[in-house]
Amino acid sequence: MATERTFLAIKPDGVQRGLVGEILGRFERKGFKLVGLKQLVPSRELAESHYGVHRERPFFAGLVAFITSGPVVAMVWEGDGVIASARKLIGATKPLEAEPGTIRGDLAVNIGRNVIHGSDAPETADFEIGLWFQPSELCEWTPADQVWRVEP
Ligand code: GDP
Ligand code: MG
Repeated sequence: MATERTFLAIKPDGVQRGLVGEILGRFERKGFKLVGLKQLVPSRELAESHYGVHRERPFFAGLVAFITSGPVVAMVWEGDGVIASARKLIGATKPLEAEPGTIRGDLAVNIGRNVIHGSDAPETADFEIGLWFQPSELCEWTPADQVWRVEP
């Protein structure tokens, strides 16, 4: 399984509800490595680029208004298979269809307030990491317990 990076963002509802620590903890406990972390209120331009694939959808304007309405916690996580694994940990887009044990399954009820974003493929992960982070904002580091996470 290749080591890769993914972009995750705790949306304004997750920040407003005080779920940042809970959500960060889930990815830490899984064993993935945090390589980028910042809080910001996204500009309209950033939000429209990030969700550009949904530009023609009826919910687009509301989605952009929501995501720019307050602070977002933007993150880059690294690990073997982290893109697909993070999507599993996040759960289905519709929180009522998300399995218990997933972030959306445990912490959300509404599709328009589903707490967290995660890249869905290697190409979108590359695009989103580059959109939200400067290369200098990402940390190269080795966790002290790395050999206890991944078989060398
Ligand atoms: P995701 O990759 O699981 O986040 O889902 P999508 O890429 O399909 O959609 C992006 C985001 O747009 C979702 O996380 C929702 O916040 C929002 N969204 C998607 N579909 C709908 C919808 O039908 N109604 C509303 N209000 N929001 C939606
Ligand atoms: Mg998506």
